[in-house]
Formats: sequence, structure tokens, C-alpha cells
Amino acid sequence: MSESPTLPHADQAVFAARGVRKTYVMGEVKVHALNGVDLDLWPGEFVVLLGPSGSGKSTLLNILGGLDAPTEGEVFYRGERLTAFSDSALTRYRREHVGFVFQFYNLIPSLTAKENVALITEIAPNPLDPVEALSLVNLGDRMDHFPSQLSGGEQQRVAIARAVSKRPDVLLCDEPTGALDVHTGVLVLEAIQRVNSELGSTTAVITHNAVIARMADRVIHISDGRIAGEERNEHKITASELEW
Ligand code: ADP
Repeated sequence: MSESPTLPHADQAVFAARGVRKTYVMGEVKVHALNGVDLDLWPGEFVVLLGPSGSGKSTLLNILGGLDAPTEGEVFYRGERLTAFSDSALTRYRREHVGFVFQFYNLIPSLTAKENVALITEIAPNPLDPVEALSLVNLGDRMDHFPSQLSGGEQQRVAIARAVSKRPDVLLCDEPTGALDVHTGVLVLEAIQRVNSELGSTTAVITHNAVIARMADRVIHISDGRIAGEERNEHKITASELEW
């Protein structure tokens, strides 16, 4: 648990980021990807991180997910100082608590949808059944198909089923509809929304598409590596009501 007096609610937040900076050094050039981010994410909420390309969204999500470490600042996960975790503790954290969904689905081509999900359920401590995970994303009738036999949107839903089959505490999605047309994008967002409401996983979705922000509980605007503002949607809409 955090002992910092400046973090009175750190034990309640799922994530508390404080003064997070990330600088990439490439030879003579320094890229300041994050310039001092303070952010809390709360249990069960659906947050959209909205900002233009290059604003630091992926860098922030990767730090929350334990894939990358900040140059400065601290991140607490449920009151524990993630930024002090050893490599093996970070691996355990990612394996047990975090579901990732990326723009490209990274499925294993020689395995069926069900087998792709089973890769995760076989090593998770308290998994969903692969069939249940695939049903959650409305792919109950496509379980024995190989990735090449599925559309892009269906492959992304397999990737979501795989990510959520471990019942993750947090689901982190980086431009999950970036490679999809509107119709299939909506089906993917419906699947993410369903996971958030039925499994209760705290969900963060990165996008540069402001329309998607309307389905969030809270929208966090990112610009130039900083949080430029945030708003709460009093009336969030379902993915099926989105139009872009
Ligand atoms: P976004 O997700 O909003 O598009 P990113 O977090 O990917 O933004 O990138 C933020 C900035 O950091 C960009 O200028 C990007 O070029 C830079 N950046 C990201 N990753 C690296 C890296 N591994 N090495 C160098 N620069 C990087």
C-alpha cells in the first residue's frame, strides 16, 4: 500500500498515476511522450482516452499495463506501487490482472478461435471457459474457425475473448477499431461494453475518434503528453447507437 500522504484515495483507485513522464532518447533527439500525467481510474468504469495520433495515449496505456515504465513519476495499481515492481512481479501482474486488446489482433493462424482463447485459459488462475468467453463476444457459432476464416471484426472479437478469458481486473484497448469499418467496429465496441458491464473489468479504450467517446462513463482528453481535460457522460450511449 502507498504510504504517501498525497495519495489518500490510492487504495480505492484501480490506477493512480502521479507525475508520469516518459522521454524516449534517440541519439541526440529526445521525444517527450508524456509530460507529467496525473490520473485516477476507478473500479468498473469505462474510460475513453481521446487524443490525436502521437499525443502519448499508447505510451500511457502501456505504462498502466506494465509493458513499459515511466522515466519519472509513479503508478499505483490498487494502492501498490507498480513502478517499483520487479520484472517477475510485473509479469505476474500482467498475466493475472490485465487484458490487452491492440489494433491488430495477433491471433495464432494455425489455431482455431477456441484454441487461441484456450492458450490463455490454460495458464490463468481463475479463467472463463473458452466457450463462455467466445459467447460473451457473440462468437459462439464461430469457435472452430481459423483466423483466416473470420472477418477482421470477428478476429478482433476473438482477441477480446482471449483478453477477457482470464477475467481481468482491467481491460486496456489500444485503437481496437482502428483497422475496421464502422459496422464491424460497432460490433467490437459492443463486445467491449458487454465485458465491462458483465465482468466488471475497469476498461480503458484509446481512440482518436471522438464519436466513440460517447459510450464512455468518462472521457479523458490527451494532448502533447498531458491530460488536457476530462468530462463525464451523464447519458452514455450504447455502441449500437454510435454513428460515424
Ligand atoms: P499515440 O498513442 O497518442 O499515437 P504514442 O504514445 O504512440 O502516441 O507516442 C507519443 C510520442 O512518443 C510520439 O511522438 C511517438 O513518436 C513517440 N514514441 C512512442 N514510442 C516510441 C519509441 N519506442 N521510441 C521513440 N519514440 C517513441
